[in-house]
Amino acid sequence: MNSPIAVYIHYPYCVKKCPYCDFNSYGLSRFNSDPHSLEREYITALLKDLRTQTQADTPGIRQCRSVFFGGGTPSLMSGASVEQILSELFAVFPAADDIEVTLEANPGTIQETLGADKLRAFLAAGVNRISMGVQSFQAEKLKFLGRIHSSSDSLLAVENIRTAGFSNFNLDLMFASANEKLEDWLSDLETACSLEPRHISMYGLTIEPGTDFAVQRSKGTVLKVSEEDESLMYRRGCELLSSAGYERYEISNFAKSGFHCRHNLSYWSRCEYLGLGAGAHGFRDDEDWGVRLYNAPAPHDYIRRAGQNGDAVIRREKLSKEQAQIEFFMLNLRKAEGYHPDNYTDLFSENLPDSTSATIEQLVSSNLLQIDRGRVRLTDNGFLFADSVFEELALSLDSPR
Ligand code: SF4
Repeated sequence: MNSPIAVYIHYPYCVKKCPYCDFNSYGLSRFNSDPHSLEREYITALLKDLRTQTQADTPGIRQCRSVFFGGGTPSLMSGASVEQILSELFAVFPAADDIEVTLEANPGTIQETLGADKLRAFLAAGVNRISMGVQSFQAEKLKFLGRIHSSSDSLLAVENIRTAGFSNFNLDLMFASANEKLEDWLSDLETACSLEPRHISMYGLTIEPGTDFAVQRSKGTVLKVSEEDESLMYRRGCELLSSAGYERYEISNFAKSGFHCRHNLSYWSRCEYLGLGAGAHGFRDDEDWGVRLYNAPAPHDYIRRAGQNGDAVIRREKLSKEQAQIEFFMLNLRKAEGYHPDNYTDLFSENLPDSTSATIEQLVSSNLLQIDRGRVRLTDNGFLFADSVFEELALSLDSPR
């Protein structure tokens, strides 16, 4: 049996676009069709995309290790759509016994009685993990972030997740928005911990180009706390989660023992994955340093392309050795466990370039990296400046050797 594969499935529609979001997501009001017709049309295209992207895979010879329904808001889909996608997918890549199937949910879509029914349908279809974007439990912050739900919606949604029978769920939280106090942030984390999710992700608000927040910032609106306050919020958040029994296993991801997100670990461990849906991308390790495949991002274009001949991939990018080297550091160092130098030698059949070894030494003496039991890892301080560490390492690969 070949090595198992991970699968990402994108659902691009949301009830409303959040002002900070730069994901490939679209508020439903942009479309003339009703949500059910949009869903039907999209799922038809997605199944064609699935058949095309797997036509060279002999059914049954590879297992599927994880599936992640992301978005957008995949909890807007019906259980029947999820069931249809999974059954076609598993006909090609049978589900591994310990498969992880995650579906992202917006609390505003699963908080009512109907939400509980929907969650039961997702569970029956094969989903076994819910990842919910609660972002905060405070009314002002939720309003500022343009979320469609209230704090009580999130609490009801968690109750529904449990009642439906899910034991494994994640809560996403966001910090560092303007005027946010450290106490408010820690209180958000405490509330999240009291709900006993197996996994918590926390992200600092970032102002991404092309978003409503970027426009507001260009007009002088202050949208974030200072960098110092953001760092303090991150550090104190890590401490709180650690004392509540959540281990940081990646920059933004914390889990109870045994509940790391297997799907995301596949990305960070350079495993192959299939990307289905508008704007999804996949990675196949079949040519030299691998190929990244990019689907058409706009839903209408994706549906049109998939409808014509089933092919919605608009770009196939062959990775160069240098790209693979940069990714090696960016992906491995995101993880708290870092990497062992042998991992590099095994993958590239050569030792680290001298310039990179020298950069690593420098980063160690600046307290950004540490060598711990033979593994190279970010320090606590390094987690705060991970992007600069990656940049330094990428530059070192560019330098003459
Ligand atoms: S609900 Fe999520 S994907 Fe949709 S716009 Fe808001 S942040 Fe983006």
